[in-house]
Amino acid sequence: MKIKKKTASWKDIVQFYELDKQQSTGGDRLAPKLTDNHIYPDKMKKMKVSCAAQVFSQRVGAIMKRLTSISSPSVLSDFNSPEDTGQLCLFIDNLFDSANGSTIKPSVGKDLRGAVTVNSPHWEFWKKALIVLESMEYETKTKKQVPSVTNWIKTIKGLQILCKRLLKDGFKCILLRNFNQDPIENFFGSIRSHGVRNIKPTCANFISSFKSLVINNLTSSHSIGSNCENDDCNGVLDNLKEFLFNDNLTGIHPLEDAEDAIITLEIPIPNQQPYASINSNSRAYVTGWVMKKIKKITKNCHHCMTTMHSDAVLKEHMVIQARMYEDCNLQYPNEEAMSIFSYIIQMFNFNFHKFVFKSYLKKSLNESLVQNLPLNYLTCPFHDLTDIFIKTTTNLLIYSYINHINRILTKGEKCNTTIQ
Ligand SMILES: [Zn+2]
Repeated sequence: MKIKKKTASWKDIVQFYELDKQQSTGGDRLAPKLTDNHIYPDKMKKMKVSCAAQVFSQRVGAIMKRLTSISSPSVLSDFNSPEDTGQLCLFIDNLFDSANGSTIKPSVGKDLRGAVTVNSPHWEFWKKALIVLESMEYETKTKKQVPSVTNWIKTIKGLQILCKRLLKDGFKCILLRNFNQDPIENFFGSIRSHGVRNIKPTCANFISSFKSLVINNLTSSHSIGSNCENDDCNGVLDNLKEFLFNDNLTGIHPLEDAEDAIITLEIPIPNQQPYASINSNSRAYVTGWVMKKIKKITKNCHHCMTTMHSDAVLKEHMVIQARMYEDCNLQYPNEEAMSIFSYIIQMFNFNFHKFVFKSYLKKSLNESLVQNLPLNYLTCPFHDLTDIFIKTTTNLLIYSYINHINRILTKGEKCNTTIQ
């Protein structure tokens, strides 16, 4: 059998990230979770598994794989081999899932996130994954395998033996996510950081640290930047804490008068440049997400959905198609829905930062958006669809705006061009 060699490249991931960051207008990033900490080696948090999982994800992989069909040649010239890189992302994503199952019934298309059973797809996947991993080479001078690949091979072989044994001994299903030592690591972390620095406690020290932790510190044991997942032990003593420290909420002032809070939106000069197709794709994707929310809010109203839904698959729908696996509830928006979304996001990006400190911000923002809306496309005999659409969209945009600011404040990420 002849096997075709494929090459994935980190440069593609950097390019993808920069492209997404440049083209996005805040609320419509294709991969909003990625930050400089994920991409640039000098800023990486090497101990954080979650960073790796967010890079090697279904989202990044699926979009990267299709990049060739949604981007112009000039954009593509900055990439090495996006299809192969995308494929590697998808493979690693599956690999993570296969060792991290946390639910007995996995979501559609994410079978490997489920429990290992006699018939689960893990067995078939692991067999193939071993072949892939064993054939993997890094393009270094020595062409040696790196420890992470060798250790993945060991891990998979170990899991195979362990799961076979447990299933034979009568277990019906195994959730591999529970195989970790995070709770212990978190607990020792708490002891070590108790009393500023307590890295070599004696038995007596340990006991006294443990006692005082139980009283006052166990409620915040999770250290920021650690590699462990939060182990759900937080909050065990929340009631005690609340009882001991139940202050009257001091320092909280009444809201300013509603009259002071009126905001006037400025209308941006229309952007003459046609959107790059990757950008219109991401807008379509987010519009589809808004529709999904509306479907829920209106309890699946047929009129509402027909007003926004597109029967034909448009060129903007490529990314939605790439993401279809997760649940088949993703919606294809029509031109009208996408243009209203574009209008809202433009107005939002142009105005929001000027009013972010005002009270009743959301309410007045939504009201001015309705007033300025160029046309009333979205109607339904049973719902105020335009209103629902605007509210759902601004909720999302405010959320992602605040998230973005928090990232700048906590992680020192650079501002991108649109949110100042
Ligand atoms: Zn309706």
